[in-house]
Amino acid sequence: MTGTPLYEGKAKILYATADPAVLLVQFKDSATAFNAQKKGEIPNKGRINCAIASTIFQYLAQQGIPSHFIRQVSSNQMLVKALQIIPLEVVVRNIAAGSLCQRLGIAIGTQLPQPLVEFFYKNDSLGDPLVTNAHIQLLRIATPEQLDQLVQLALKINSYLQTFFATAKLILVDFKLEFGTDASGNILVGDEISPDSCRLWDDRAGDLSDRIMDKDRFRQDLGKIAETYQAVADRIQAVGWQNVANGGY
Ligand code: C5P
Repeated sequence: MTGTPLYEGKAKILYATADPAVLLVQFKDSATAFNAQKKGEIPNKGRINCAIASTIFQYLAQQGIPSHFIRQVSSNQMLVKALQIIPLEVVVRNIAAGSLCQRLGIAIGTQLPQPLVEFFYKNDSLGDPLVTNAHIQLLRIATPEQLDQLVQLALKINSYLQTFFATAKLILVDFKLEFGTDASGNILVGDEISPDSCRLWDDRAGDLSDRIMDKDRFRQDLGKIAETYQAVADRIQAVGWQNVANGGY
């Protein structure tokens, strides 16, 4: 079923299938950070992220949020709808961390008064710069109507994911979404949602570096990386996405 890759990214390989409207995504164990300046392997990450992303896409579908996900076909592979990718990384933040703190001098852990939506232009050679609505119009990346839709979808997804992770005793600090359009122009969530693309803090008291349960463990060399990814998957599995509305544990 796999053949020559259509595209190999930092964490995933994309293959064509017999149906041009369907692609096969294979999740890799490799991890990169800081625009690929830091590289490494996280044992079993491909399998773990494929399972987590599949669960989250099914949960979001249940809430009426469309994504490219069709179905998981092996431990580290899923079938997805082929999309015309919108070259934006849409970041939603609930608590200050990462580049927001570096850019604006806000203390890490500061609760934001309301969720903040930011756009980054997906362009490796430019280092994925932050862009404003005016930049997006200037570069003709998305129409004003599409941009409104992206913000509304991102905020809805944030609220669903906060509930989802809360049932697994995880705080959703921030996360990144990617979107694309299908042949009819509908906007669908693409890429993946996993501990590679979300900041997740264990919902318990204690030292923050012990509570980090996402790719920041890799970025900051905090150790226990694979174990932590597995722990996130285990908690999500224990709740079951069908049971999130009932409060989980
Ligand atoms: O680095 P920054 O604080 O802007 O990241 C915000 C969120 O977006 C984090 O959850 C991070 O994991 C995610 N992100 C990502 N891919 C990128 C940049 C950020 O998944 N290329």
